[in-house]
Amino acid sequence: MGKRIAIVGAGAAGCFCALNLKRLHPECHVSVYESGTKALAKVAITGGGRCNLTNSWENVKSLGQVYPRGEKLLKKLFKQFSPEDTRKWWEKEGVRLISQPDGCIFPQSQDAMQIVNTLLTGMRLANVELHLSHRVKSISHPSADSSYTLTFSDESKKNIEADVVIVTTGGSPKIAGFTPYTDLGIEVTPPVPSLFTFCIDTPGLKDLQGIVVEHTTTILTGTKYKAEGPLLITHWGMSGPAILKLSSQGARWLAEHDYKGEVMVNWLPDLSQDEVRATLEQHKATDNGKMVANTPPDGLTKRHWTYMLSRIGIAENKRWSDVGKKELNKMTEMLSADCHAITGKGQYKEEFVTCGGISLGELDSNTLECKKHPNLYFAGEITDVDGVTGGFNLQAAWTMGMVIARAVRNK
Ligand SMILES: Cc1cc2nc3c(=O)[nH]c(=O)nc-3n(C[C@H](O)[C@H](O)[C@H](O)COP(=O)(O)OP(=O)(O)OC[C@H]3O[C@@H](n4cnc5c(N)ncnc54)[C@H](O)[C@@H]3O)c2cc1C
Repeated sequence: MGKRIAIVGAGAAGCFCALNLKRLHPECHVSVYESGTKALAKVAITGGGRCNLTNSWENVKSLGQVYPRGEKLLKKLFKQFSPEDTRKWWEKEGVRLISQPDGCIFPQSQDAMQIVNTLLTGMRLANVELHLSHRVKSISHPSADSSYTLTFSDESKKNIEADVVIVTTGGSPKIAGFTPYTDLGIEVTPPVPSLFTFCIDTPGLKDLQGIVVEHTTTILTGTKYKAEGPLLITHWGMSGPAILKLSSQGARWLAEHDYKGEVMVNWLPDLSQDEVRATLEQHKATDNGKMVANTPPDGLTKRHWTYMLSRIGIAENKRWSDVGKKELNKMTEMLSADCHAITGKGQYKEEFVTCGGISLGELDSNTLECKKHPNLYFAGEITDVDGVTGGFNLQAAWTMGMVIARAVRNK
């Protein structure tokens, strides 16, 4: 009889692992247990329904920049199944991919359902059993050489026995979601949200809602956390990649500070402060008859620039000829180091992931097998691995799923 393999959670990591495992090891019985009524429900809504399934890595300077948690582990795992291997895998399945200038990779169809259907069709053809509406409540493992028993929340469902258990239940915002694993003595790094927007109450800012500045850098004042990218002003504060990435870098710090802090925005990050000042001085020299508000720096709209000027007390009709040294200093600071108090975490459903989860020290860094429980594996967002926006979270799920499929086959 082939090995009985139970995969808990039919999300990105679980389905990718199930399909590859069954293909690599056809004689084993692979069953996936999913609490919801649909498999891959989250994947279906990723990337605004387009599924940003990986990244070209062209703009990635270091792994730590895109994986605030799990950098070292992924460095190792990518040697086994890299982002390039991932692209080849999907293209071999007939999914044509396109890469955006920012590095984000999508199916050419721009339809996340193509990703969902490719996995589900593959699983069906490979004879992976999929059990929907099966919420796993507990996993027991009486001794190192015994099999695992899975029980379900719905007690009318029969317990199942498995030789290998692969847990891919995704992120959980509450530590209580990890009880089945803490009950097994496995350490969990407390979960906190990552990838969220900031509530900001600076007077007048919200009137600029809808404005996007394409290239900014952001810093969480007083910390080492920084990010860059487009920034969007919303009716509750700030959003866009430069804010979401900063929330990811500073996820734990922000949680510990009750989502209060200060974000410092550099609206012209391609220029040093001296260069910003020199540009303003140049305006004063050459545009002295013009109104300051009518000559916004490159990349900023007139509306945004007028608002910045109002914050430093420069009237809309002031001319460059009347601008003094102190005002030039204030303008320079406003453009390069614009500080706003963060009053809370955005409440809207964004691309939200969990920071924290199964502590990486609990896992073998080559196979993702649990050190305390042989034949128990963890993959995806349930682990203390998470990335910024840009296809990095799904990439981690695909890589971890494949690493486990190969490790189980090789065992
Ligand atoms: C709106 C949104 C958009 C996103 N867009 C992107 C994107 O474009 N690119 C990107 O890289 N990342 C994106 N992400 C993040 C990405 O979707 C996740 O990081 C990824 O899906 C994690 O994969 P996973 O397999 O670990 O978990 P999931 O895909 O969340 O799957 C976990 C599965 O386990 C099931 N489950 C949970 N508990 C149990 C249980 N006890 N028993 C049985 N089943 C259980 C769940 O129902 C779920 O189906 C987005 C996230 C959100 C919320």
